[in-house]
Amino acid sequence: MAVFHPGATLSITFTPIGTTNEIGDASFLLNLDGNTVILDAGMHPRKQGVEGIPNFQSVKDQDVDAIFLSHCHLDHLGALPPALSYFPQASVLMSEASAILAPVMLQHTAGMMRRQHLDESGPVPLYSRDDIDLISYIFQGVRPEHDFPVFNLQKWANDLTVQFYDAGHILGASGILLKSKSGTVFYTGDTCAQDQEIMPGAVFPDKPVDLLILESTLGADPSAEEKTRQSEEKRFAKAIYDVIDNQGSVLIPAFSLGRTQEMLAQLHRLREQSQIPDVEIYSAGFGEVISRYYDQTLRYTRRKNPDLRLEDLDIRPLPPGDVRRGPHLRKPSIILVSSGMMAQHTMSYRLAEVMLPDPRHGIFFVGYIAPDMPGFQVRTAQKGQMLKLGPDSPEQQVQCHIDRFHFSAHSHRQHLLGIVEKLRPKRVVLVHGELGAAGWLRETIKNNFPKTDVTIAQQGTSIEY
Ligand SMILES: [Zn+2]
Repeated sequence: MAVFHPGATLSITFTPIGTTNEIGDASFLLNLDGNTVILDAGMHPRKQGVEGIPNFQSVKDQDVDAIFLSHCHLDHLGALPPALSYFPQASVLMSEASAILAPVMLQHTAGMMRRQHLDESGPVPLYSRDDIDLISYIFQGVRPEHDFPVFNLQKWANDLTVQFYDAGHILGASGILLKSKSGTVFYTGDTCAQDQEIMPGAVFPDKPVDLLILESTLGADPSAEEKTRQSEEKRFAKAIYDVIDNQGSVLIPAFSLGRTQEMLAQLHRLREQSQIPDVEIYSAGFGEVISRYYDQTLRYTRRKNPDLRLEDLDIRPLPPGDVRRGPHLRKPSIILVSSGMMAQHTMSYRLAEVMLPDPRHGIFFVGYIAPDMPGFQVRTAQKGQMLKLGPDSPEQQVQCHIDRFHFSAHSHRQHLLGIVEKLRPKRVVLVHGELGAAGWLRETIKNNFPKTDVTIAQQGTSIEY
C-alpha cells in the first residue's frame, strides 16, 4: 500500500508546460506533496516538429510518477511519445476507451508527420509508427469513478490517488480527480456538460475540490449559450433543405474524432425523421476509421442510445479519386469530411475551393475553428467578397451559402460557471482558451464567487497553493 512519508512537503504546485491562452499543446505539471504527475501531453495543431510540443526540456529533472490523459484529441495526446522519452519511468493512465483510441490517433499522426516531412519538407517526424507499436502496451485504461493509487514503474507515490470521470465531449474523454494530503485537484480536460447526439453530458465529482483546472474554450462565445440544441437543429435542417432545394450540396467540415461521429448520427436521424431531404450522405477519411472504435466500445461506454451502431447507418463513402469531382457535387448531397478547420490540402479544403464560387452549394460549420485557419476565413466571409483560401488556391468570389451552427462538444460558459458552482473550489486556474475567453470567465467567477481565487494559466509560470 502507499505510505505517506512524514518528511514530504505538503503543497500543490501547478506549472503549464505547453502553450496557454490558445488551443495548442495542452500539458501541465502538478507536484502534490512531493509526487509529480503530468496532465495531458498535447501537440499544437498548427505547429510542426519540436515547435509544436510542450517544453518537457524545462522540467526534465522532475521525477514524474505518472502521465494522465484526459482524451485523445491531438492537442492533449499528440506529444505523449516525446513525453515518455523524457520520463520513461512514468505510468500512463487514461480511460478504457482512450487506451483503445490513443494508439490509433498516434499512428495516424506519425503517418501525417512523415508525409509532411517527405512531401512538404517539414521537420523530421517526432516519432514513427514503429515507435507507437513499441510504447502503446503501457497505456493503461481504467474504469470511471474508481480510485486508483498512483505509482510509477519503480515506486508507489505517497498517498496519491486518481479517479477518472466521464467528461462528455468525445468517446473516452475524462475529467481527472487527484486526491493527496494537501487537497483535491480536478482537471476538467475538454468537457461537455450537455448531452450530444451520441455522448451523454459530463459527470462531475460530487464533493468540493481545492483546485479546479477548468477549460475555457467557449468563454468568449455568448451565442453558444443562447442557442438551444433543438433550435439550432431546426435552423440546421432548414438550411440543408434550402441548399438541396436549390440543387446544391452541403459541405460539413468536421474533426475526425468526435464531431464526425456525432454529425453522422444526427444527419441520419434527421433524414429518417424527414426533417432533411432524402439525399445521399457521404463521409470519408480518418473519421470513418474512428467510427469503428465508437462501435467497438459501445457496450462499456456511456451512450445516449446504447443500440446505435454507426456501421448500421446508411452513409456512403466518397468515391475514390479527386474529391473535387464526383456524384456528390453533381447531385444534391451532404458531404461530411475532415478537416474541421479546413487545413490546407485536406478534403474539406479541396471541396471548399470548388464550392465557394457556386451559389447552389452550402458550407456549414459545426465546431471550433482557430482564427488563423482557412476555415475561419470561409466562415467569416461575406457573399460577393473575393477570397483566396491558401497560397496555392485561386482568388475567387464567394457565392455559396455559408453558415455556422452550434453543436459544439464543449461546455458553454454558463455550464462552465455551473462546474465552479458545483465543485466550490478554493482556487480556479483557467486553461485551454484564448485570452478573451479566459478573461471573461475570470471576471465572472470573481463576481459570482468572490471567495474563489482565479488565475489564467501562463506557460512556464508555476502557481503554488
Ligand atoms: Zn478535445
